[in-house]
Amino acid sequence: MDMKEKKPAHQGPDKNSMKPFLYYYLIVVVVLMVINALGFSSLFQREVREVPYNELIRQVDEGNISMISKDDNSLVFIAKDEQGRENIYKTGIWTWPDEALDSKLEEQNVVRVAEIPTEPNPVMNALLSWVLPLVLFVIIGQILSRSLAKRMGGNAMTFGKSNAKIYAENETGKTFADVAGEEEAKEALKEIVDFLHNPKKYADIGATLPKGALLVGPPGTGKTLLARAVAGEAHVPFFSISGSEFVEMFVGMGAAKVRDLFKQANEKAPCIVFIDEIDTIGKKRDAGAMGGNDEREQTLNQLLTEMDGFDGRKGVVILAATNRPESLDKALLRPGRFDRRIPVELPDLKGREAILKVHAANVKLSDNVDFNSIARATSGASGAELANIVNEAALRAVRMGRGIVLQEDLEESVEVVIAGYQRKDASVSENEKKIVAYHEIGHALVAAKQSHSAPVHKITIIPRTSGALGYTMQVEEGERFLMSQEEALNKIATLTGGRAAEEVIFHSITTGASNDIEQATKLARAMVTRYGMSSHFGMVALETVTNQYLGGDSSLACSPETAKEIDDEVVEMVKQQYDKAKKILEENESKLHELATYLLEKETITGEEFMQILNREEARGDC
Ligand code: ADP
Ligand code: MG
Ligand code: ZN
Repeated sequence: MDMKEKKPAHQGPDKNSMKPFLYYYLIVVVVLMVINALGFSSLFQREVREVPYNELIRQVDEGNISMISKDDNSLVFIAKDEQGRENIYKTGIWTWPDEALDSKLEEQNVVRVAEIPTEPNPVMNALLSWVLPLVLFVIIGQILSRSLAKRMGGNAMTFGKSNAKIYAENETGKTFADVAGEEEAKEALKEIVDFLHNPKKYADIGATLPKGALLVGPPGTGKTLLARAVAGEAHVPFFSISGSEFVEMFVGMGAAKVRDLFKQANEKAPCIVFIDEIDTIGKKRDAGAMGGNDEREQTLNQLLTEMDGFDGRKGVVILAATNRPESLDKALLRPGRFDRRIPVELPDLKGREAILKVHAANVKLSDNVDFNSIARATSGASGAELANIVNEAALRAVRMGRGIVLQEDLEESVEVVIAGYQRKDASVSENEKKIVAYHEIGHALVAAKQSHSAPVHKITIIPRTSGALGYTMQVEEGERFLMSQEEALNKIATLTGGRAAEEVIFHSITTGASNDIEQATKLARAMVTRYGMSSHFGMVALETVTNQYLGGDSSLACSPETAKEIDDEVVEMVKQQYDKAKKILEENESKLHELATYLLEKETITGEEFMQILNREEARGDC
């Protein structure tokens, strides 16, 4: 991340957090007492040396003494030592008055004073040993508390004042060049960039640009990235806040944050306000729900009010992102608010290739790297996943002790993203391995023996951390948008091919097919309820998709009787395809054996190897 000037918008003293500081002061006092008890205060005093009386006589004889004082039972004098430094000495009184000494002192002009202070002035002493450290501690404490408050994003207790982490960036440093693919979205956003560059052009002609644009699409498709790129292209400040930040403990806080956000944005116009994950506050307000969420509703109302209230011509553009557009309150979507909706879809083949290239721009690549083949193998992957694939590949290259990334690194990292890391240490028994090999060849063989199936790209029986004991990778030649009924049925057959092989060869079945079963059922169900591909129901929608961008959950929209019929239809459909797969495998049993044996030995085989063995056998056998 290259966030410049990333800072929470508010800081301030925190009444509530004064409590910990009480403890803090207590600790300070204790520490000071210890320091004093250990006598560190003598550091601030001049050292006084106790010497015998004849030392005094000797010093007088040598003429070292410059000053002397006498009290009731001791003499204190200042004398130079060998290095010429002046020290304070103290000695007891031997004979007094000592006339011999007296006259010598007289001779040498030694200053006689009432008292040579052996301790510094008590006020100074206290100042040095108590007050100064205390002041120091207080200053440090103050600095600490301020930075703490800063880090916590301001204050939690002051009502009406926002502590939302509103991030303000003067330059996001991102441009449209950082966003690969998504041409339509970029096109739609270019107008906004132009408007921010030159609001006057629009004002002169009397046009008002939409106040807000809503970026909708699945997670990881670059919505946040696009919003930042708009700010970067327009060279305007970027205020961003995540919807979840609005959800607060105290009622009224969310609304205050919204007010605050817009106030700041107005001061900095032209600028961009970005509300990420707006669905957290923008959910439909429904009357019926138990009590509802007052806080969220208030926040949303405030947002709507602010959007209506501010002057669109000033150059504040509001962008928001969500992956659940269907759950948004209609009020948010009406004209004058987020009336422009910009879809940010999963990248297509060309888009994926472009995204891979953008993220590989700073990666050292070998010449043989073919992004097109990687893009083909990652159908359905989001931009974030593709970015991750490139990075994983670079990490793998480093792990292998190489200086550049090879095609095999990228291929392996695709598999890591799909199926997890290889588990070389996993102890799979020989028998299990054999079953897995036949299972995977079963998939591949059924796929290959049907028309309209994606070619087999790779088959492996190396276990993965995801729990998969092996898998067959099929890669389409190009991008597919439509699937015919025949293709869908063939796909179900391919999915059941693994289990079918187990039954044909071992006459017993294992749990290894659970994922296949799930996928086959899902597809069959969708064919019946959504794609109108069953003879019985025809073109009737029996399910509605509720969460288009998040897994695509669907809910039934039919009577219980119909639901039962649907189930029957799905069961029948899968069964038919299973039988078809079994038939294919029985007809090609010798090839199944040969391929499975080969796979068992190699553990991983490519699509070409697979096809070679398959065709070789065919040439000798059938024809
Ligand atoms: P979203 O907000 O849609 O969930 P992000 O914008 O946070 O997705 O994307 C996450 C990361 O994925 C980005 O930081 C970027 O590295 C990568 N990414 C996603 N889409 C693209 C794209 N179209 N071009 C380049 N990188 C992308
Ligand atoms: Mg995002
Ligand atoms: Zn399988």
